[in-house]
Amino acid sequence: MSEPTNQAARPIPYGRQQIDEDDIAAVVAVLRSDFLTQGPLIPRFEEAVAAYCDASHAVAVNSATSALHLACLALGAGPNDMVWTSPNTFVASANCARYCGAKVDFVDIDAATLNLSVTALEDKLRVAKQRGRLPKVVIPVHFSGRSCDMAAIGDLARQYDFAVIEDASHAIGAQFDGRPVGDCAYSDITVFSFHPVKIITSGEGGMALTQRPDLAQTMLALRSHGIVRDPAQQAKDGAWSYEQRRLGFNYRLTDIQAALGLSQFAKLAQFLEQRRQQAARYRLLLADLPLSLPPEDDMSAWHLYVVRVDAARRRAVFDGLRAAGIQANVHYQPVHLQPDYRPFGFKEGDFPAAESYAQEALTLPLFPAMTMAEQDFVAATLRSLLI
Ligand SMILES: *Cc1c(COP(=O)(O)O)cnc(C)c1O
Repeated sequence: MSEPTNQAARPIPYGRQQIDEDDIAAVVAVLRSDFLTQGPLIPRFEEAVAAYCDASHAVAVNSATSALHLACLALGAGPNDMVWTSPNTFVASANCARYCGAKVDFVDIDAATLNLSVTALEDKLRVAKQRGRLPKVVIPVHFSGRSCDMAAIGDLARQYDFAVIEDASHAIGAQFDGRPVGDCAYSDITVFSFHPVKIITSGEGGMALTQRPDLAQTMLALRSHGIVRDPAQQAKDGAWSYEQRRLGFNYRLTDIQAALGLSQFAKLAQFLEQRRQQAARYRLLLADLPLSLPPEDDMSAWHLYVVRVDAARRRAVFDGLRAAGIQANVHYQPVHLQPDYRPFGFKEGDFPAAESYAQEALTLPLFPAMTMAEQDFVAATLRSLLI
């Protein structure tokens, strides 16, 4: 059999944005307008996403990392508080707690969904309650675009009195129980990312959704230095007056980015459909290979297509894909084993399901602009490496 060839002859990334002429036109229109930032496209983008998600408030910021930080602050996480998240995530899901001076701990994952395990969470809460060390905030991550069991997490949140931030960086457009991720039915705040590898992009960008006006107001003020412009005060003191009421940041999204985000958002349904079809196609193409494939799920946003390969062969398969121009990846090396987390006492064996998954994980390319020929090439190359 001849070597499989990549007809496109350029590297195939694991994820990439799809930018069309109308996206470009939307950005150019902003460049010709009066406002490059703090203009009308920010609220329009926020309102569109909030309406789609059935959330009453949305706060656009310059990254999901910033949104996670503001969410933690709005929920009052600070020194002496504990924040728990999944070890199978990007470091930002945990770092946000440290920005607030809070302590981070992790909850092991469920081997089937690769999301934070509800059983492990319940066990850990029981022990934490006895020790008087319950978390202030828990941050479930909808890994690869598949929603966590939010109803179960919401029940535990009520029982043990912690707040919930959904890190839905992978999951705009996903659903749980027939409802859109982002409606915060079982959480306080939900965060999306608009980084170019995610489902839709604004270049860099993120958004925090909530049903609670108090949290929205706090995040809104904190994204712009903690400054509040109060009409009543301005009527009294002059229209120039404003107050910095607490220390905030410049976490603003620009109108240039919001224009791109809004234009991309109009294609969300199409992107989701393409991702679902590509995932279904991988399932057929890879069915007879010695891999473990992700469970079928029509409600997932399919940000990542992650297969599991025998740990002893993973490195060779990964290197073989890279040598063929296929930029496979690994999502994720467990956060607790990062050098910057070791000083907190984390070590190998702390979260065995996340660690053993990480030895076998392999992310294959999946993005709307990927052609069928490219996908065939990925499958054929994997076959040549595995059989
Ligand atoms: C991408 C990502 C983030 C951070 O998103 P940015 O917009 O790049 O800051 C946070 N959490 C998860 C799970 C992510 O995948």
